[in-house]
Amino acid sequence: MKQYEKFPLQITNSLSRKKEPFKSLIEGFVGMYVCGPTVYNNVHLGNVRTFLTFDIIARYFRYLGYKVRYVRNITDVGHLENDADEGEDKIAKRARFEQLEPMEVVKSYTEGFHEVMRQFNILPPSIEPSATGHIVEQIEITKKLIDKGLAYEANGSVYFNVRKYNESHHYGILSGRNIEELMESGRDLDSQDEKHEKIDFALWKKASPYHIMRWPSPWGDGFPGWHIECTVMSTKYLGETFDIHGGGMDLKFPHHECEIAQATGANQKSPVNYWLHSNMLTVNGQKMSKSLGNSFLPKELFAGDHPLLERGYGAMTVRFFMLQSHYSSTLDFSNEALSAAEKGFKKLIASLNTVKKFVHEGKGGSDQKISEELHTLAEECHLTMSDDFNTAKTLAVLFEMSSRINDIKSGNISLQNLDQEKFNLFQSTYINTMEQVLGLREEEEHNHELLNGVIQVLIDLRKKARTDRNYLLSDKIRDELKQKGVQVMDAKDGEMTWAIE
Ligand code: AMP
Ligand code: ZN
Repeated sequence: MKQYEKFPLQITNSLSRKKEPFKSLIEGFVGMYVCGPTVYNNVHLGNVRTFLTFDIIARYFRYLGYKVRYVRNITDVGHLENDADEGEDKIAKRARFEQLEPMEVVKSYTEGFHEVMRQFNILPPSIEPSATGHIVEQIEITKKLIDKGLAYEANGSVYFNVRKYNESHHYGILSGRNIEELMESGRDLDSQDEKHEKIDFALWKKASPYHIMRWPSPWGDGFPGWHIECTVMSTKYLGETFDIHGGGMDLKFPHHECEIAQATGANQKSPVNYWLHSNMLTVNGQKMSKSLGNSFLPKELFAGDHPLLERGYGAMTVRFFMLQSHYSSTLDFSNEALSAAEKGFKKLIASLNTVKKFVHEGKGGSDQKISEELHTLAEECHLTMSDDFNTAKTLAVLFEMSSRINDIKSGNISLQNLDQEKFNLFQSTYINTMEQVLGLREEEEHNHELLNGVIQVLIDLRKKARTDRNYLLSDKIRDELKQKGVQVMDAKDGEMTWAIE
């Protein structure tokens, strides 16, 4: 029996606004698309929360035995400054500002983004397509929408006709907005506006003569709108209908609403079975965002180098802090909460190191009551995760398990009296839930300290070898350290320094 049959998943679908049993389109396979970052400002901690949510979701699906194709894009064109259809292209603006070719901005941003993901142990997606790599497909679907009467050209730009679409479908199905109200609030079209209605959105934008990111199209030189890239890349890699589409809560409207309209209009079928939205990281109750000036970058967080931070915190402490709340609730940043998280995280990691060392030597089983209790705790780890990926509840179970691990360590519970099978399940569940599902591991700085300590032991051994005139050994240590990338420098007075090259 597959794990996913044993622990069936319930997930909250933003479309129905209800918890629903999860059923994949293809047995044993999950297709998931998540809106990735926009190449503009460096990723801040708020962005990290959203990508962490979907990392957990992808990890848990895999843990349950599903094969997952996880697509997360890079928005490298078309996201205009005010998130609507006006203003400068965010990437082009950055490029102009820094006097760089836009693709230089994209490259360095993407590398920085990957490094942040690595620091937080957020695993890479299966496919990471970019908007500029899919211009042809974006033009094709725009043509298709014009042919179907759902889009119109105006002065070299193309707009989606929301009113027309809404005659046969429901624009607002995801965000629960009422189209009449949207139309009403958007009545104030100014005279130079090319759109028929304010609510219409761009599929293609005409490039002004000074605009650097531009491609030829049937409507002249231009660039794609923001929403169309996700429709094109999700359906290209996952099919016209796929299982899960995710992103931050702030993308529900207009971005995801527009995606539904475009894809449904073009393909006559609903593109996504389950829409999932991760809630916002807030600071004093306000969404963390670059424009509000209340955001900080991961490197500022690690160094404690920001007015909002009393000191630095490790990436794993922050990961743990974020997992303490359910992804659908807002999460408020505070120094107190992070300090508390650090203590909790250290406790769970200490138990992880301890439990790995336990070896059950025989069948055991005389202590059935505790064995049963441990077995139940292991099952609860899965049940809480299968309940809409409730990491908060899973962590509470792990704390219970951590207490039992301490009882075994102190001898309060006798390991050899436990039922071997039940204990083994308890042990492997604790390890796998921590490492594979929640992606928690020692802080990197801990590993650095460990490494520095080990190198120092070798340096001291080399000093001893030299005092003993054992030059063969002293040279061997120096040469082998060099091979591993550690250079040892000898000072005149017999002291030695070293550096990682
Ligand atoms: P962006 O690079 O601005 O397009 O954002 C990338 C992702 O981060 C999107 O899914 C946003 O919804 C998400 N996001 C932005 N700000 C926050 C925040 N304060 N908390 C959680 N997610 C956020
Ligand atoms: Zn998107």
